[in-house]
Amino acid sequence: MSELRHPIESGAPDGFQYMHPVMRRNYGLWDHHETPRPGVLKHVAKSGDVIWTVKAGTQRILDLFSLRKLNEIGKQLGDGYVRFTLRSNIEYMVADEAKVQPIIDALETAGFVVGGTANSISTLSHTQGWLHCDIPGTDASGVVKAMMDELIDEFKSHNMPNRVHITTSCCQINCGGQGDIAINVQHTKPPKINHDLVANACERPTVVARCPVAAIRPAMVDGKPSLEVDEKKCICCGACFPPCPPMQINDAEHSNLAIWVGGNHSNARSKPSFQKLVAAGIPNNPPRWPEATAVVKQILKAYKEGAKDWERINDWIDRIGWPRFFEKTGLPFTKYHVDNWRGARASLNASTHIRF
Ligand code: SF4
Ligand code: SF4
Repeated sequence: MSELRHPIESGAPDGFQYMHPVMRRNYGLWDHHETPRPGVLKHVAKSGDVIWTVKAGTQRILDLFSLRKLNEIGKQLGDGYVRFTLRSNIEYMVADEAKVQPIIDALETAGFVVGGTANSISTLSHTQGWLHCDIPGTDASGVVKAMMDELIDEFKSHNMPNRVHITTSCCQINCGGQGDIAINVQHTKPPKINHDLVANACERPTVVARCPVAAIRPAMVDGKPSLEVDEKKCICCGACFPPCPPMQINDAEHSNLAIWVGGNHSNARSKPSFQKLVAAGIPNNPPRWPEATAVVKQILKAYKEGAKDWERINDWIDRIGWPRFFEKTGLPFTKYHVDNWRGARASLNASTHIRF
């Protein structure tokens, strides 16, 4: 009898092979950690082993020259072990404290910024943007660069009440949007349909099924099979655009940015919470996005002044309440800031059945 064939695994490789030996040895056996200075972590294991981590910000879409430079620093000055964090920071792990300062000096000389630990503003995370994805309404990495240029002092210091995670997302429906503050695209007009292309480019039942409010119907237009949108129902989410590019929703004037605040995945200190919309209709204004940056800075200033030590943004808002959040940040409260949309249960397409 032949041996059983082993499955070919194509998932993430086993992380242990890339771990620093001190981390491998002490896996799950850590005692405590300290942050001796911004950008440096010291982890102490129960065995007494110590490992130092130096963290620096990078751009998520790394060019080859920067990547080679970062590797060279790790090989020459570190122990040859690095990892990238979710927010595109690089971390160098070393077992010897004497190696910490030379790595910091080399990173700073090469133009990288050391920081992003503990109660700082970490690098904004972002989705793919114009470089990789086919449906974005803005360039997420451009927003990140423009904002981080203005928030860089908070990356390099430990001055916030707790860590702040900010995200940007270049469409309204797919990846992105997880953080204390989320900057997302907001479409404000229904899609414009190019009826000449629908029959050839779109699988119509799939497109009809994608709409969360059942606003799309099959239709014949000028003798050709196409689709039509009930604009009174449409919530301008953009979910029909990916399966049917002739339903163009991106618009230079009507696709804006919106800012959502107070989301929390973790249940470490308080319950997980959803984001809430706090600013809408912000111009999607490349290359520096000054209006969106101004709103983010307004929120951060109020949080920094008002939150108690170790309160995340959602903890702070839970304590003071949403009316005071708007008062403190100076953001206008409009009819769009509805707490929870109670109509959702009756009209959102919550099952696989299509309702008309
Ligand atoms: S957020 Fe949307 S547009 Fe941006 S990369 Fe993800 S799927 Fe693409
Ligand atoms: S999928 Fe979204 S944008 Fe498209 S018609 Fe439905 S509600 Fe409107």
